[in-house]
Order: sequence, then C-alpha cells, then structure tokens
Amino acid sequence: MKDISTIYGSLVFSDSVMKERLSSEVYKGIRHTIDTGAELREDLAQPIANAMKEWALEKGATHYTHWFQPMTGVTAEKHESFIKPVGEGKVIMDFSASALVKGEPDASSLPSGGLRATFEARGYTAWDPSSYAFIKDNSLCIPTAFCSYGGETLDKKSPLLRSMDAINLQAMRVLKLFGNTTAKRVVANCGAEQEYFLIDKSMYESRMDLIHCGRTLFGARPPKGQEMGDHYFGVINQRVSAFMKDLDEELWKLGVPAKTKHNESAPAQHELAPIYSTVNLATDQNQLTMELMKSIACKHNLACILHEKPFEKVNGSGKHNNWSLASDDGINLLEPGDTPHENAQFLLFLLAVIKATDEYQDLLRISAASAGNDLRLGAHEAPPAIISISLGEDLTNVLEAIETNKPYKGLGNKKIILGATVLPPIPKDTSDRNRTSPFAFTGNKLEFRLLGAPFSIACTNYIINTIVANSLSDFADELEISKDFNKDLTALIAKTIRKHKRIIFNGNNYSLEWAEEAEKRGLMNLKTTVDAFEHFTDKKNVALFEKHKILSRNEVQSRRDILLDNYIKILNIEGLTMIEMVKKQILPAVMLYERKLVKLALNKKKLSESLDRSVETDIIEKLSSGGTRMYELTNQLENQLSDSNELLDILQRAKYFKNIILSTMKELRLVADSLEPLVAKYYWPFPTYADILYSVK
Ligand code: ADP
Ligand code: MG
Repeated sequence: MKDISTIYGSLVFSDSVMKERLSSEVYKGIRHTIDTGAELREDLAQPIANAMKEWALEKGATHYTHWFQPMTGVTAEKHESFIKPVGEGKVIMDFSASALVKGEPDASSLPSGGLRATFEARGYTAWDPSSYAFIKDNSLCIPTAFCSYGGETLDKKSPLLRSMDAINLQAMRVLKLFGNTTAKRVVANCGAEQEYFLIDKSMYESRMDLIHCGRTLFGARPPKGQEMGDHYFGVINQRVSAFMKDLDEELWKLGVPAKTKHNESAPAQHELAPIYSTVNLATDQNQLTMELMKSIACKHNLACILHEKPFEKVNGSGKHNNWSLASDDGINLLEPGDTPHENAQFLLFLLAVIKATDEYQDLLRISAASAGNDLRLGAHEAPPAIISISLGEDLTNVLEAIETNKPYKGLGNKKIILGATVLPPIPKDTSDRNRTSPFAFTGNKLEFRLLGAPFSIACTNYIINTIVANSLSDFADELEISKDFNKDLTALIAKTIRKHKRIIFNGNNYSLEWAEEAEKRGLMNLKTTVDAFEHFTDKKNVALFEKHKILSRNEVQSRRDILLDNYIKILNIEGLTMIEMVKKQILPAVMLYERKLVKLALNKKKLSESLDRSVETDIIEKLSSGGTRMYELTNQLENQLSDSNELLDILQRAKYFKNIILSTMKELRLVADSLEPLVAKYYWPFPTYADILYSVK
C-alpha cells in the first residue's frame, strides 16, 4: 500500500510547491493574485515560469501545454516541447514568461458561434493563475482561459471566473451591512458527484452506437434491469474495484480529492464524489476526473460511459452540483448559525438563492440542457424540467412564520424577531431525502441535480453565481440606504418570501400533480433543450449578464448558437448511425434469419402437406413486416436528415430535429427493438442489453 500523503498532489504545482520553490516576494505576489483575483505583476511571470519548468523537468515532463475548456465541453491542449536549439545540434530546455502567460493555439476549428471570422481565426489562451498547473502524461498543463482576437470569450472558464468576481463583490456588500469587518473575499464552492457506467471494452467496441454516439440507439429490455435494487451500494466487484483504486490514485496525484465511491442504481453504474473546492478548481478537477475515468477504464479493458442516458429502461447518469458560499474568514454563508445575528444573515443569503432561482428558472434549466439530457429529465429517474427549490419542512415553516408574522411552533409558539431570535437547529438531513428536487437545500449547501453526467460544471456554476450575485446586489441596494437596518431587513425578507415562495416545493417532483400545480403557480416548464435555449437571449437574461460583466450580448448569442448547433450535430450523428446500423447490421441479420426459417418451413411442408401454419411461418411474418417497416422508416429518416439541411435558421433547424426527426428515430427504434427478441442470438449482430449490462464480472 502506497503512502497516500506522499503521492497526494505530487503532480501539482501547488501552493506548497510554490512556497518552497519561489522567492518570498514572488510567492507573495502569486498568492495575492490567487486570493484576491488581482492581476499578477508582470515581472513575476518569468521567475514563476523558471520554477515551473525546473519542477516539471524533475517530474519527467518533456512538453508544456495551455490547457483550456472550449465550448466543445471537453478540454483542449496543444503540446510544445521545452527544447530550444542552441546550435551544433544541441538543445536546452526553455520556458519563457510569455509562453506561460499567453498562447496562440490557432484553434480555428473550435466552435466560436460566429464570434471569430476565419480571417482572424486565431484564438488566444491566457494563463489563469488561480488554478494550479499540473503534469499529465509528461506534459506540464497550464490552466488557461480561451478568447478571440477581439477578447470575446470562447470557452467555459472565462464566464465562470468573471462570475466569481461578481458574487464576491455583491456578497461582500451584504456582509459589510451585517457589520463584518474581517472577511476579505467570498468564494463559491462546489462538490460535483459524478455518475458513470463501466462496461467491458469488447462490448463497447462491437456497438457502432456506443462508439459514435456514446449511447445505445437500439436495445430491447433485458430480463433483469435495476428493479431488484441490488446494485445500489452493492459490493463492488474485483474488476471495478481495481479500476476505482487506480482512478483514486491518479486523481490524488493530481490533487483531486476523490473521497466517496459506490455502486449506483442501474447495473454497471457507479459514482465518485470528491471533497468540495472553489468552483474554478472543482471545474478543472471534474474535467480531469471524467478524462481519467475514460483513460483508466481503457487500461483495465473497460469502457467508461459518461452519456446522460446510455441505456433505455435503466437509469441514466447525472451529476450533482453541490454549491455553497463561504467567506475567507471561515463562515459558510448558507449554514444556519447559533446567534440571532448569524440566523438573519443566513436567511438573507438563502433568500438570495430563492429569489434568483425564481427569477432565472430559464437560465438554470439552460445550464442543464443537452440532447442527451432530454432523454433523462422528467422521466421519473431525474428531476423534471420544471425548476423549483426544496428547503425541507422546518425551514419552509420558518419562512412562512416570518412572512405572515405569526408564531413559529418550533420556538415554543413565539414570533421570530430577526436580529433577536435564535432559530432552533434546522435538521440537516430532512431536505436531502427529497431526491426528486432539482435544487435542494441540504443543510449548508444547495444541490443542483439536473446536470447530465458528461456536462462541464462551469456553466451551472457561472449561472448560479451570477443570478445569486444579482439578488445580493438588489438586497444591498435596498439595505445600504436603510436608516433602521433590522426593521428594513425584516421587511425585505418578508417581502422576498411573499414574492418568490412559489418556487419552493418540498413534495414529489416526479408526480403528475406537481406538473399541474407548477403550471398553476406560473412556473416555467421548458421540456426540451430547444425550448430552453430559445430563452437564453431573452432581454432580462442579456441584461443580467451585461450588468454583472459576465457575457456581452454577442457572447450570449454565440453561446446559444453553439449549443443549438451542438444539439443538431448530436442528433444528426445519431440519425446517421441508426441508418447505418439498420442497413448494414439489423436488416441483414433479420433477413438471414428469415431465410433460415423459410428453408425450415419449406422442409416441414414437404414432410406434411397439411402444415400451413407453424412457428416458423409465424415468426417469418413478424420479421417480414417489421423488416419492411424498418426499411421504410430508414428511408424516411434519410430524407428528413437531408431536408434539415435546407433550413438555414439554426433555431428552425433545431426545432425540425426535435419535432420531426426525433419521432422517426423513436419509431425506428421501437420496431427494431420488437424484432430483437424474435431473432436467434446467433444472428443478432451486436451485444444485447443483458450482454452489456452484466459484462463486467
Ligand atoms: P450526499 O449528497 O450524497 O448526501 P454529501 O452531502 O456528503 O453527499 O456531499 C456530496 C458532495 O457535496 C461532496 O462532493 C461534498 O464534498 C460536497 N459538499 C459538502 N459540503 C459542501 C459545501 N459546503 N459546499 C459545496 N459542496 C459541499
Ligand atoms: Mg448528492
């Protein structure tokens, strides 16, 4: 057994490495930048580059790369070796300050949503000193933000970093109002629980749909799914356990605090949760986690599947985004406190989240929108597309008592007087048991449960940060001019509860009654990705992003277009893969088996003239009519895919995919899945659900 404390963070240019290797002046400079978000002094970049290079070379690195997170949702890197020729066929190892600070990856094929014309296609990467550099596969990786020539953001990280400044600014205003003189900065923290599937690599490689789309496009229900509940928290088998141990070790080396691992509900499904960290570190770490899951699975002859819904009939995979706010003097601002003062402050921060959730339901929904997640949300395995927040009964009762100025039974039937009342302890767990809520308060943090497994958490977190910053800014505007703080605070809290309580729902979010009730309450129900993205550029949303300097109008528009384009491309690839699988695999298999049955039926008929109907003829009829229908639907799908190219407006095109193409795909799948149980196993052209889901033994 290796000593974890010696390997933990061994591949990270971490705070302790910097302390050891930088002069105290340089260390203080970079620490100041990390802690306050201030710009780094220009003359400090070279000594940092030198120290980074020496450290990386000692660790066996040969290359460096600016590591960034473009709108593809996966990370990007372009490796440069450290070598610099010095004549006579010799080289030295070189790494300049400018190579650290700025990169020009010429990443012209990455999505820009029209922000970058091809003649100025160069994108720039800029070092983000607030995220630690690390070594992966013998390359020094430098976390960077990615932008266009004109400075417009082209990545997932930039708005996140800006939103951290926005929430810091507004939260500090509110803390000052409560008389806080010790806090210097407020940060948002996140712990992302990551679900995934592990299947045998040979299964993965024998299915075109898994290879091209990351999910199965066909597959009849297996005899055993997740109904026994025996996989959830079950004993982890040897192969999976060996994978998990390797994964933990590699993550620890990269300073990712992987903490919890267990089997999940569906067969072959598992989960990993790290200890939380600041949202920008958590975002980098989650990207690394997903990447390592895939590469380490490969080494174990496994395939890791991160799609939102890889298999029908069993649960898909999500990602829970646990979010909280903390001040640098060590206070979790979403934790109920022990004094009346702390309670009032907690309630105001909680209400900032409630107000934000109600006012920007659409943005929260957008942060979890993708073609894959449309297959999962609202299907009784994940929260619905309706955004609400659950607080648990106790806290809801507290809010109700404040709103109505009535006695609170948890206080021995006394009234709650803000600034004077100590609230009884709010039990942490009650709300957490509501696993159906999209956004659940779980004692000292909020758990956003809509994300699909493959998502970058950057978008959800910059949206939560921004909308909460906006509420805090409204609160601060009102309270900063107050003459009687406690009185006005009480009025503000009561008013905010009254206005936004419709967003609070503690019941079963999976029920039909909730959809009806939510409609009565006037809440949004943006069922699909396309419905959600339509709202991205709404006036109020653009105004929000501009006010807090997160994204400009052009940047919002480009993001909407990139995401819609991505939606269309995913469905187009799925459609083409279906056609390929039907024509090259399923139909030929069905026909071969039919031919076998026809031969058999004819032989039988020779033996007995009276035999008109038989098992064979019965199956032949079903295969024949199913085969014909599949053929028709495949042709129809082909035509529709080509018709879609004629729609030039991206939103119209996305709608065509959603309304027309998806339903043809659905029907085609139904027919193919109905034939699968009729065809002998020997003839079926790829592994079935039962083969795949129980392949890791
Ligand atoms: P569960 O949601 O399954 O009950 P936990 O409550 O233990 O599990 O935590 C799940 C995730 O929430 C972990 O990644 C954990 O680090 C993270 N978490 C815990 N406290 C906070 C916090 N204050 N802010 C953000 N994330 C947190
Ligand atoms: Mg959880």
